[in-house]
Amino acid sequence: MDEITDEMRAAASYWEKTAWKQSPDLLIVGGGIVGASTALFYKEKYPDRDVLIVERGEIPEGASTRNAGFACIGSMSEHLADMEISGKETVLNRIERRWRGLQLLRNTLGDEAIGYEPVGGREIFTDEELYDTCRGRITELNKQLADRLGEKEIYSITEIGGLSAIKNRVEGALHSGKLMRSLHQKIAEKGVRVWWNKSIDSVKPGSVTLSDGEEIQADKIVLATNGFTSGLTDTTIKPARGYLFVSKPIENLPWCGTFHYNKGYIYFRNVGDCLMLGGARDLDKERETTSEFGVNKTIKNHLVEFANGVLNLPEDWEIEMEWSGIMGMTPDKEPIIKPVDENVWMAAGLSGMGIAIGMDVAKKVVEKL
Ligand SMILES: Cc1cc2nc3c(=O)[nH]c(=O)nc-3n(C[C@H](O)[C@H](O)[C@H](O)COP(=O)(O)OP(=O)(O)OC[C@H]3O[C@@H](n4cnc5c(N)ncnc54)[C@H](O)[C@@H]3O)c2cc1C
Repeated sequence: MDEITDEMRAAASYWEKTAWKQSPDLLIVGGGIVGASTALFYKEKYPDRDVLIVERGEIPEGASTRNAGFACIGSMSEHLADMEISGKETVLNRIERRWRGLQLLRNTLGDEAIGYEPVGGREIFTDEELYDTCRGRITELNKQLADRLGEKEIYSITEIGGLSAIKNRVEGALHSGKLMRSLHQKIAEKGVRVWWNKSIDSVKPGSVTLSDGEEIQADKIVLATNGFTSGLTDTTIKPARGYLFVSKPIENLPWCGTFHYNKGYIYFRNVGDCLMLGGARDLDKERETTSEFGVNKTIKNHLVEFANGVLNLPEDWEIEMEWSGIMGMTPDKEPIIKPVDENVWMAAGLSGMGIAIGMDVAKKVVEKL
């Protein structure tokens, strides 16, 4: 009997080649919020073109399904710290981009589909000097934001749990899992193909190579790989691991809504009657500059102490589940949307704000393609 070769075994049928395995017009690496939104906006612009997303997880597996679900434009102390680094104009532009990105997200998918709740956000302070500095800048920032966003008196002084706080009345909370499911449902309805559990090893103009050696030709390619981009091309984007846990239900949980602490490094919110708490990456930045998922004990212990000492949770509270996600940070926190080769684009470096700016970044890369 003739020998059956691997090539024969792998040979695709005519039907497969013409409806499932054809070369796409646009190939997107990564099925997170940026990759999936890029597919959506591209299909809206060019309904007849074929789009394929290649995603290495069995679901999107970077940050988009592993974040805290804050629909936010940022806290006062975060903005002031950023202004020190990037200047006031850049930070005001960033706030505006976050705001417009959130409107785009809510209009595209609908509040019900993403589990959006207009709960308002609050930044709490234990450092009175930092609080005084932030409080002293509220009037100025409110005026500038009213001019840009058309929303008056966004930030105001308040108090919660015996702590000084600054409220952000336009902040919301959403369900990141529902968001990503409804986004993928929407692109499926538009005919976008997604290959799950397939990792791309290398990219060059006109084609990508999968980790199993298969090559896929494509007219255009977009890298929507955020914190994992340095594995595919030269970039200044650094991976940054973020940690989160959710507690078991806590009776009469006083922390309802979304909350920030310490320049945005610590964040917490309620999910039903449970507390979600995370962040504190600044405690061990070097070890957290990684694209490996995992839990850093120093950070976890710090957050547990914070829950006990600052949030005053009842003594018997317990962690129900914990996880990590990988962000992609750029040196100036501005996302990178640029060609890296002929017809190969990068849309990455969302710098921890991708729920807010993800769709806006996708829209911009589609305009350029
Ligand atoms: C703990 C945490 C909390 C956060 N909280 C918030 C928040 O409250 N609000 C907010 O606005 N933002 C938040 N963020 C940031 C936000 O989640 C991200 O900015 C956003 O999800 C980035 O989306 P993305 O599509 O660019 O990247 P990702 O969601 O990371 O998607 C990239 C995808 O590419 C895939 N991929 C990578 N390499 C390859 C390859 N070689 N081949 C195939 N596929 C590949 C990955 O599996 C991944 O699914 C948080 C992030 C973390 C980690």
